[in-house]
Parts: sequence; C-alpha cells; structure tokens
Amino acid sequence: MSGSGIVQRNDLYLIWEQKHFKKISPYKEFIFDMLIHLDILSEQRRYDITTGNRLPVENFFVPCMLTQRNDTSFMANECTPEKAISLAFVFKGTIIPPALPNRLISACLSMWTVKAYEGRKLLFSGFIGLSFDKVHDIVVCVEANKILLYIVHKSSNGLIVPDIATGIKESMFTTLERISEFYQSTVHAISSSQKLPFHIEYACSRLECHIPEEAAFTTDEWICHKHKIVHTKDKWNIWNQDQAKEQCEVNCPGLQEGALNQMPSDIELQRFASRCDETTISELAIHLGMSFQEWEDLRCNFDRIEVVKYRILVNWREKCSGKFRNIAKALTDMDLPTHKLCQIRRVIKRECDIDEIYMDWIPTDEILDALAQVIGVLSFQLGIELELPITSIDIIQHDNGRNLVAQCKQILFQWRVQGVRPTIGVLVQALLNVGRGTKCLEEIIKTVGVKKYEPQKEGKLKTFLKKLNPFQKKK
Ligand SMILES: [Zn+2]
Ligand SMILES: [Zn+2]
Repeated sequence: MSGSGIVQRNDLYLIWEQKHFKKISPYKEFIFDMLIHLDILSEQRRYDITTGNRLPVENFFVPCMLTQRNDTSFMANECTPEKAISLAFVFKGTIIPPALPNRLISACLSMWTVKAYEGRKLLFSGFIGLSFDKVHDIVVCVEANKILLYIVHKSSNGLIVPDIATGIKESMFTTLERISEFYQSTVHAISSSQKLPFHIEYACSRLECHIPEEAAFTTDEWICHKHKIVHTKDKWNIWNQDQAKEQCEVNCPGLQEGALNQMPSDIELQRFASRCDETTISELAIHLGMSFQEWEDLRCNFDRIEVVKYRILVNWREKCSGKFRNIAKALTDMDLPTHKLCQIRRVIKRECDIDEIYMDWIPTDEILDALAQVIGVLSFQLGIELELPITSIDIIQHDNGRNLVAQCKQILFQWRVQGVRPTIGVLVQALLNVGRGTKCLEEIIKTVGVKKYEPQKEGKLKTFLKKLNPFQKKK
C-alpha cells in the first residue's frame, strides 16, 4: 500500500475485524464514510462510459500511506520555466501539518484525473500531476511550508488560457480554505473572521523566487532576487483574469516569444478563425502564402464557411509548418491588430442554469442523443472544441454524409469515450465557445434529468436505489 496508496473497502473491514478494533467493527460503514468525508480516504471515481452511470467504487486512495517519492522526469522535462507558470500557498510556520496537503490531494483527485507520464501515474508522496485537458496539466507539490501549484502547457506557457489558470487557482484556494477552517476549528474554537493560515505568492518567470500577492498588486515592477529579472504587474493577470471581459487588457503585451514560436493547435486555429470574418481569413491566407485557388477549392468542398475558414488555416499550418509568428506578421501587414491572436487564449464565460453538482457528471446517452438533435451545423466546431482529432471528425463526416444529427451524435459519443474529462461541465464550456450557448443543454437536463439513470442491476438493489436519491453527493 505504501507504493500505490490504494486500499479496498473490504481490506479495511478485514483489518477492523482484528481484536484491537472489535469496538469499531459494528460502526465500520459509518467510520468508512466518515474517513471519506474527511478526505482521509478518497474515492477513485469511475463512470460507465456508455451510460454515464457512476460505477461502484472499488479502490480508495489513502494519501497519508503513500511514501513513494516522485522519481519521474516530469518536473525536469515538462514543468519547465518555458512551459509552466506557478504560485505558492505559503503557510505560517516552517512546515505544514501533513494532513492538510494529503486532504488537498484527495480533493484534487475528486476534481481531475491523475496524469500518466511515461507509463506511470503521477501520484506520489506530497506530489500529484493531473490532466486538465489535452494541453493543460496541473501539478501540486508540497515543499516545507509551501504548497506549490503549477500549470503546465504542452508547448509554451504563453499559450496557457488565463481563464483556466484563474479557475484552477480559485478552486484550489477554496478547497484549502475549507480544509484549513476545519483544522482550525478542531484545534481551537474560532470566530469565522479569523485570518487564513496561508497566503498566495506568485513565482518569478524562472519559477523559483516568489512575491506575495499583496505586494504584487501594489508594485508596478518587481525584480526577483535570484535571477534579477524584471516582472511587471500584468504578469499576474493570468491568475486573476476578469472572466466577463472579452477584450484584451489595456496593457496586454500580446503573445510572447515562446508562444509565437509555436505551431497553433487545432483548437487554437478554430478559436481564431471563428472570431474573424470570411474576408479577413481569405486575405490572411493569401498573406500566409496560400493561393486563391486553394481557398476556392475548399469553398467548393465545404458548404459551411466556418469550416472553410478553419480548414484553410489548418492546410496552411500543415503545408508551411506555420507558426503563430507568421499569423502575427500577416495581421500586421494587413494593418490589423495582432491582439486578434490573443483571442485564442480566451474562453467564453456565461451564467449557466445547470446545477453545479451535475458539472462533474458524465452525460448519459439520453442527454447526448437529445443534444445531437439541436446542434446542427455547429457539430464540426463542437468536435474541435471537445478536442477530437480533426481526422476523426473528417471520418465521422464522411461516414454520415449529410446527416447532421448522426454526425453530431457520433462526435459526442466519441468524445465521451476519448475525452480527458468528458463531463457536463466541459460540454457546457464547449457549447459556449462555439457560440451555441447552454440553453439547449439546460432544457434537455430539465426534461430528461440526469437522475433517471440507475445502475443496470436487477432486483433488490434496484428498488433500494429507487428509494434513494442517486444524485445526492456521497457524504
Ligand atoms: Zn527569480
Ligand atoms: Zn492582447
């Protein structure tokens, strides 16, 4: 267990059957649930990917039992100053009570999937690596009195989506806040106004020196002590994105060197293309070295202009090994602001009427079936936003001819099998990003409900489950 940190419910019950534990044996289920509630044990959630049902949990993770240290090369090779950004939750005193980061790790496990790197799961003592989506990873590790949070982008930290960084920071903060409050309340009776036992510090661009958040907000410039690098205030905007704001900040520096040297991904080209009109893209393509004929060919092959706008850019990227730098130059040549490129780092935020607890759930067949009916021509963009490879979408489109509903259905079902996090929450964000809005999904969930689905087991269990509300989060 010290190697994997995994325990099964029955193993623990067996231990409790020993003489020393006789007293707790009658309450074993209650105690087990209590251990989960306290994040001492954490459920490894699994879902049936065809129905979206939650599967009975077999394995439980016990962070405090895991002693294996991180001996992978992930930090050295991936979590580098070129690809990552970092902040620290700094605690008063010299060390953090170990229960605290352990509970944090448990909580992280319930929010995101553990990342596999070189065939191993990034789950070690005081260290966890998680996948947010195909390009963003999260690392949480404990060092002395600090809990370090890293967000790692697959190719360059200049392409990290600020709304994602801000969202992750906020959920970590609230989780830590909740856990610390619990600990403080067990140590002494406290008033709720008591100050938190930690504060945030931002890391310098080499990820080593730190500046307290308060100071970062009030100083215009900060020179880090070890590397003597000058950091300006807007460096921290990424952690504090105003999610409602759609335009760049006044002092937005645009894409930085590291980012400009990257090849745009499918999803980035999709975001860029969808925010430019037809004329802009066709002219841009010429500036990028594509021919008018190539544009016309696509125009003939695809009915939808959205698809053409996107395809021409993908073709250019493949043909010319195109980089962001080339697009920036073409925009400048066309007298257009290069801030158009900043849009690839934005996701659209809107109020959504779907209950927060469903966001973590995998959508059922019924929901996806109903959704496929109403997406129509947007299914292609939706597929890109859901990170399906363009080759898969091509095949799906080819196989289903002009049947848009069938296309969309297959796209959605494939995402549910292959997606990093095929949850209702991710679907909501993708619908916003393609400009469809979430009303359609809200209506479906209202009508069919998420809760109609029950595990396909016969007899007693089924009737028993009917009496329970299967939605209620396990306490
Ligand atoms: Zn530094
Ligand atoms: Zn900008």
